Amino acid sequence: MEQGRFVTTKEGEPMTMADGHGRDAGWAVSVPSFPKLLVQVGASLHATLIVDSLGRILRMDHLLASLAGWGDGASFEGRAFEEVLHRLPWLTQALRTALAGRETVCEGGTPGRRLRALVLPVFEDGGLCLGACARLSACEPERAESARHEALRRELTRTQRQYEELLNTLGAIVWEADVDFRFTFVNRQAERLLGFPFLQWIQEPDFWDAHVHPEDRAWARAYCRNATREGRPYEFEYRMVAADGRVVWLRAFVTVLGEEEHPLKLRGILVDVTEQRQARDKLEQMVSLLSATFDSITDAVLVASSNRRLIAFNKRFQRLWGLSDELLSGDPDHMKSLAFAVAQVKDPERFTARILEMYEAPEKEGVDIVELRDGRILERTTLPQWLGSTIIGRIWSYRDITAERQARAEQERAFAAEQHARERMEESFALLDTFLNNAPIGLGFFGLDLRFIRLNDALAALHGKSRHEEVGRALHELSPRVAATVEPLLRQVLDTGEPIIGFDTALEVPPTPGQLRHWRASYYPVRTTSGKLVGVGAVVVELTAERHAQAERERLLREAHEAIQIRDDFLSIASHELRTPLTPLKLHLQLLNQRCASGQPLPPQLARKALAQVDRLSGVISDMLDSSRIQAGLLALEREPLSLQELVRDVVADFRPHCPEHPLEYAECARRLVVRGDRGRLAQVLANLLENARKYSPLKGPIRVTLAPCGAEALVSVSDCGIGIPVDQQAHLFERFFRARNAPISGFGGLGLGLYICRHLVERHGGRIWVESEPGHGSTFRFTLPVED
Ligand code: ADP
Repeated sequence: MEQGRFVTTKEGEPMTMADGHGRDAGWAVSVPSFPKLLVQVGASLHATLIVDSLGRILRMDHLLASLAGWGDGASFEGRAFEEVLHRLPWLTQALRTALAGRETVCEGGTPGRRLRALVLPVFEDGGLCLGACARLSACEPERAESARHEALRRELTRTQRQYEELLNTLGAIVWEADVDFRFTFVNRQAERLLGFPFLQWIQEPDFWDAHVHPEDRAWARAYCRNATREGRPYEFEYRMVAADGRVVWLRAFVTVLGEEEHPLKLRGILVDVTEQRQARDKLEQMVSLLSATFDSITDAVLVASSNRRLIAFNKRFQRLWGLSDELLSGDPDHMKSLAFAVAQVKDPERFTARILEMYEAPEKEGVDIVELRDGRILERTTLPQWLGSTIIGRIWSYRDITAERQARAEQERAFAAEQHARERMEESFALLDTFLNNAPIGLGFFGLDLRFIRLNDALAALHGKSRHEEVGRALHELSPRVAATVEPLLRQVLDTGEPIIGFDTALEVPPTPGQLRHWRASYYPVRTTSGKLVGVGAVVVELTAERHAQAERERLLREAHEAIQIRDDFLSIASHELRTPLTPLKLHLQLLNQRCASGQPLPPQLARKALAQVDRLSGVISDMLDSSRIQAGLLALEREPLSLQELVRDVVADFRPHCPEHPLEYAECARRLVVRGDRGRLAQVLANLLENARKYSPLKGPIRVTLAPCGAEALVSVSDCGIGIPVDQQAHLFERFFRARNAPISGFGGLGLGLYICRHLVERHGGRIWVESEPGHGSTFRFTLPVED
């Protein structure tokens, strides 16, 4: 038997397989030897004749050969049964039926030797028809023959069912087709997988063409044609479109049956690999994504296996180290390939030692800095690559941090410069603050929002606050009264850019309510060196003390002028007062002289008149001398206990002859009032008051004198009905040289010293003196003296 004629590859030889694009996958499979199986089946059936699927005789009994008309010695193996058995048409017909897949029973032969043949198709496990077996037996009497026939038929039916079940329960489509891809057989799985009735597969001559995915149709057909022509088994993946429109990926295993270079049939298996295909597509997408990510990250990454082989690296890694594709091709060792890097780093020993150190400790992670000779600085990070709980390699990533480092250095430089500038600024501010806070004048700076940026305590004190409380606040928040005056000026400076210099104002400020204080303020625009206006500077100088001093000076000047005026008036008055008595005195003395010379009698009144003028002169001079003594503190008193009643009585009595035209009334006190005083000086006080009462009563009204006790004092009053004294002048009557406006009206002279001396004398005695007067209605002068017990 020639097995090689029934299969296209020898048993055990590898078959090639192609993927969906017609490429060989390089897998190896083995296929069973169909004829061997056929022969085994034939032997077990005690077959008289065994024919393969192509109608070639594998084995034939001699009995049958002789029945077919062949003599001994003829060889039939490999010959077509149609040719060999053409004399037994009943048998050839049965064989054809069997090779078409149906068993049959037939009878034939000569009448004397009638034979019955049971012809069975033989299928392999995949459902392929391997051939047919015929068992011949002589026809027996009718009944026995019928029983055997029935038993055989049942056996055939059972076997066929087994085959069919086997085929139809397979998870793959088992098929057979001619070389033009027209299906002659498919199992039920075909219907389940793609949804087309299996008869459609067989009945439609172009079923395969019509249902292959349009994108796969051309290449799949070409690939199959080539493989079929070459007669080799092949394997590939392609898509078919199912009845419901689904795209189903199929892996096809195809065997070519037939003579070499003359393929006759195709048989194969189609397995649904859609899920695997989708999973593979997903995997490919994931790989592509990871690959793109790997190449797009900014770090240069190298992955090495545990045995230090370079597994992967990205483009940035290649660019970072300037590596050629050749250098990294093949399966380079990490340590060996370090040569490229070692030449570029500043400290090769440390660089290499670090790598070795990390390989020695697979679980270790680390970050270090690698400096390159060209100035670049890399941050190197390494960590183990884990697969589940197993370390399968190590990842090295390099990040170029040169720019980052430079930026940081630049930032540090800038920070240092800023720090320096800040310190300088703080120094400047310290100087400024020292200057500000020690300046005796108010200094401050306002921002564009008119809030204090800086000010000294002198200025803050104007608002009753400390400078720390005022920084950041506006004037109207601190002192609305000050703000009402100052803020318009500040706005004016900001609006015009022009300073306001020497603005004088007088204000009440919170720390000194009710006190008007004087200020001179100047406001200056504050500009940066580029000329930008940033605020207003204020310089405030308090002028209150100066103003007061000036007022004092003015007052003193005024008083000096008044004093000069008084002095001039006094000289004029004194001259007048001194000359006035001299004229009549001279006249009287001349008369007395003439009378003496002529021997005429001397009238006594003439001498009295002369003496009165002398008294008047003497009084004026006494007042002047007393005034000088009082001023010099030299007026001496000789104090002794004395009766005030007696004193007043005596003075009134002495005065009465001098005022004959004025009724003089005296109301003496019954109680004895003793005072400790200078008798002459107290008499001088009372005489002075009486003289004034007389002098300033031109209408000769009465003059009243009273003496009365008043508590621990004695009260002496002198009233007249004279011209009275203007109210506004009354307070000044007791001042030196003061003469009220009424004095010229009265037409009487006087130095304005009398009341001044009276006040001094009364006060020296521990008493008080005052006046009650109404112009036109007279005056009452009163004084008190402490009374002795
Ligand atoms: P004088 O020598 O001018 O009288 P005095 O010191 O005695 O000086 O009085 C001061 C001034 O007081 C007088 O010039 C006068 O204007 C006013 N005066 C004093 N006494 C009387 C009085 N009784 N009635 C009105 N005016 C008087």
